[in-house]
Amino acid sequence: MSDTDAGPTVEPDALRTPIVAVLGHVDHGKTTLLDTVRGSAVSEGEAGAITQHIGATAVPLGTVSDMAGDLVDPTDFDLPGLLFIDTPGHHSFTTLRSRGGALADIAVVVVDVNDGFQPQTIEALEILERTGTPFVVAANKADTTPGWNPRDGSPIQASYESQSEAARSRLDENLYEIIGDLSDEGFSADLYWRVQNFAKNVGVVPMSAITSEGVPDLLAVLMGLSQRYMKEQMAVDTTGPGAGTVLEVKDERGFGATVDTVLYDGSVRAGDEIVVGGTDGPIVTEVRALLQPRPNAEIRVEKRFDKVEEVRAAAGIKVAAPDLDDAMAGAPIRVVRDRDCESVIEEVESELAEIQVSTEEEGVVVKADTLGSLEAMANALREAEVPILRAEVGDIAPRDIAVASTANKEKHRVVLGFNVDVLSNAEPELDESEVRLFDDDVIYQLVDEYEAYVDELERAQQ
Ligand code: GDP
Repeated sequence: MSDTDAGPTVEPDALRTPIVAVLGHVDHGKTTLLDTVRGSAVSEGEAGAITQHIGATAVPLGTVSDMAGDLVDPTDFDLPGLLFIDTPGHHSFTTLRSRGGALADIAVVVVDVNDGFQPQTIEALEILERTGTPFVVAANKADTTPGWNPRDGSPIQASYESQSEAARSRLDENLYEIIGDLSDEGFSADLYWRVQNFAKNVGVVPMSAITSEGVPDLLAVLMGLSQRYMKEQMAVDTTGPGAGTVLEVKDERGFGATVDTVLYDGSVRAGDEIVVGGTDGPIVTEVRALLQPRPNAEIRVEKRFDKVEEVRAAAGIKVAAPDLDDAMAGAPIRVVRDRDCESVIEEVESELAEIQVSTEEEGVVVKADTLGSLEAMANALREAEVPILRAEVGDIAPRDIAVASTANKEKHRVVLGFNVDVLSNAEPELDESEVRLFDDDVIYQLVDEYEAYVDELERAQQ
C-alpha cells in the first residue's frame, strides 16, 4: 500500500457515499449490528470488501450487494456504497443536520423487539425528528422470539415463513408494539415491505444482529432509501474545499491534539488551511498530517496510522494540526483553500452561534461531551424553565465546581453532567463544596432527576 493511498476516494464529480449512523438504547444491539455488517462483509467479499476509516467503515456497493443477495442488484444503483459511523449512539449525532451540513445522512434506530421502546430510543427519535433525518428501525433480536428457528443470513421474510405459527405470532405482536410506539411519537410506520415511500413512512425491519437474519433486508432498505431520496445530497464536488464534523478530540503521541472528523463534503489535503470550532471560538490552523488507520496494525503507538495526502468525502479521517487542544466534539471543520479565510471563519462562527447556549446571571452549570449534546441539554432545560449560568463542552473541572458554588439559591448550586467524567482534581473540590452533581447519559432522565431534586428541596423548605 502506498503512502498516499487514502482508501476509497471518490472520483471528481461522482456521487459521494451516504453516511449512516446507528442509534438506539443501550444493549439493544448497535455494536453487534455494526460488527456483523463488518464481519459478514469481510467473509463475503474478497480483499477490499470494506475499508476501515477513522471512526467509520466504508462498505462498497459490490459488497453490500454480495451481502444482500437478491435484494440488491448493483446495476440499479449509482451510489458508491454506505459509510457506517463506528461509534454507535455517538452524541455528536445531535448536531447531525443542524445546518446545511450533515454528520449522517440516514440513521438506523436499533430497537430490541422484546424490550421495545426505552429512554434512549425516544431520545434518538427526537433528535432525528428535529434534524429531519430519514431513518429505518431495525427491530433487532428477532431470534430471541420463543420457538424461533434460526436461518443464518437469510432475508427476513424467508426466515419468517419457515417459523412455527406460535413464533410468528409472538414476533408479530412485538413488531406491532414497536409500530404503535413509533406512531405515539408521531411517526407513521409499517413493516418495511409495506412501505411505499420511505421519505414519508418509517420502515421497520425485523432482524437479528447475531444470526444475520434480516441484515440483507436492512442493507437493501438503506441502499434503496439513499438512492431514491438522497441522491441530490450526494452530488458534491469531492475535490472542493472540505467540510466536516468533529467526532472526537484526541491526543496522539507525536502529534499532540488531533481531531477525528467525518468529512461529508469536498476534500482535505495535507497543508490545507482549516478552521475548526473550538471552546473559545474558531481555531485557524494548518493540516500537518492526515491519518488513516493502518490495516492490521500492531498496537505500537507510532505505527498505528498511515499518512495520506488527500481524503475525499465521504470519509472518516484523523486530522493532525497545531492548536487543536480546544477543538470541540460536534463542532464544524472547514477547509479554506482558494477562499478568503475571514469568510470561512464567519461561516464557522455562525454555525457555532446557532448551537451556542445562551446563559443567565443565575442558574445551573451544564457540561456535556459534545456541542450537539450540550445544545440538546440546553433545549431540554429551557423547556423545563431551568436557567443556565454556564454551559460548556468537556469534563467537569474544578472551576465548574467553583462557579456552581457561588450560586445564591441552593437549587442552582448544581452541576449537570451529560456523558462526561469528573476530572480527578475536581473530586476533592466537589466533596468539600455544597455543590450537587447530577450525571446521566439520557438527557431527559438527567432533567427529570434534577427536577425531582428541586421538588424535594421546595418541599423541605415549606
Ligand atoms: P449496544 O449497547 O446497543 O451496542 O448493544 P450490543 O451490541 O453491545 O448488544 C448487547 C447484547 O445483546 C450483547 O450481549 C449482544 O450479544 C446481544 N445481542 C445483540 N444483538 C442481538 C441479536 O440480534 N440477537 C441476540 N440473541 N442477541 C443480541
